[in-house]
Amino acid sequence: MERIVLHVDMDAFYASVEQRDNPGLRGQPVIVGGQPSDRGVVAAASYEARQYGIRSAMPTARALKLCPHAQIIRGRMGYYREISHELRDLMRAYTDRVEPLSLDEAYLELTPTVADYDDAERVGHELKRRIRERTRLTSSVGIGPNKSVAKLASDHAKPDGFVVVRPHEVDAFLGPLSVGELSGVGSATEAKLREMGVFTVAELRERSLPQLTEAFGKWGADLYQRARGTDERPVNPDHDPKQLSRETTFAEDRRDVDDLLRVLDDLSQEVAEDLHAEGRRARTVQIKARYADFTTITRSVTLAEPIDDVDVIQEVARLLFQTRVQQREGGFRLLGVGVGNLRDGRSRQLPLFPELQASSATRLAHLRETLRRRLASDQG
Ligand SMILES: [Mg+2]
Repeated sequence: MERIVLHVDMDAFYASVEQRDNPGLRGQPVIVGGQPSDRGVVAAASYEARQYGIRSAMPTARALKLCPHAQIIRGRMGYYREISHELRDLMRAYTDRVEPLSLDEAYLELTPTVADYDDAERVGHELKRRIRERTRLTSSVGIGPNKSVAKLASDHAKPDGFVVVRPHEVDAFLGPLSVGELSGVGSATEAKLREMGVFTVAELRERSLPQLTEAFGKWGADLYQRARGTDERPVNPDHDPKQLSRETTFAEDRRDVDDLLRVLDDLSQEVAEDLHAEGRRARTVQIKARYADFTTITRSVTLAEPIDDVDVIQEVARLLFQTRVQQREGGFRLLGVGVGNLRDGRSRQLPLFPELQASSATRLAHLRETLRRRLASDQG
């Protein structure tokens, strides 16, 4: 049976809430995030700010270089979560299979509840309208035969967008997209594809499965499927991650330690961004490393208190790598960073941004010292 999946995503959610509640911010470049003096990062940027190239998870200091007159607002995480719960209640009116991806984004499995794509389109418009009436915020909706296509569809028309991709339209819709828009295609994969002369999804589709697996290993087979819009993943209403992780497989094995530490920094940043999106904090930080011979190890540490700030995750990941991972001649083929032992971020007033603030450097130094001692005495 043909599936119909809807993806709904609020437009610049945190920033839009702030603009809604403070008319002086409307039409202005607004950043919700930490202060540059605290090495804060951007949690959300209004569309006006995005025009300057400001993106989520970018250090606020860099964002301010791009747009010096941007307004920086501290987030109100508890409040965003309340709105998020209201949004989910609205969505559950259409199906009991709602899978939240973050506070402002979810998949809805419409397959059993709507008759066909016309019916789904009606549901999508109605959901968008009810969201706007209830929250005075805009959202973007994508509808397609699976999760990947639905998400690409909603991304495609932001803000306030509405895109339906019927099964026979999938190839035409995906073809002109840049390969970087496919999920899982990061800058490394994109660069390598460019070297191969592949810029668009249509060009990726011209590459055979053996060509892609030769260039990318197992990941090449996934790329082959993604270029065709194939995605069998079910919508999972119980999605409540026990852990969040990001990993990257290198096109060629890497052994330069500084280079590997930079990769860990990037992965840590992505994980921190995922944590913020979930409104969670974590007590456990884990790294994963795969050697050239495919031996895979994980190393983790559990902290005294839950954290969500990128500096701490980076610091812990670096320490684990430096103290607990043996370097080998052949180098590494994969690195990963994950967090576990997740807590609801609501327990604190402003969980989005570290209270370390002024004493950030001191606290990091203390953490580094404590962990170094612990890791040194702890062989495992
Ligand atoms: Mg969003």
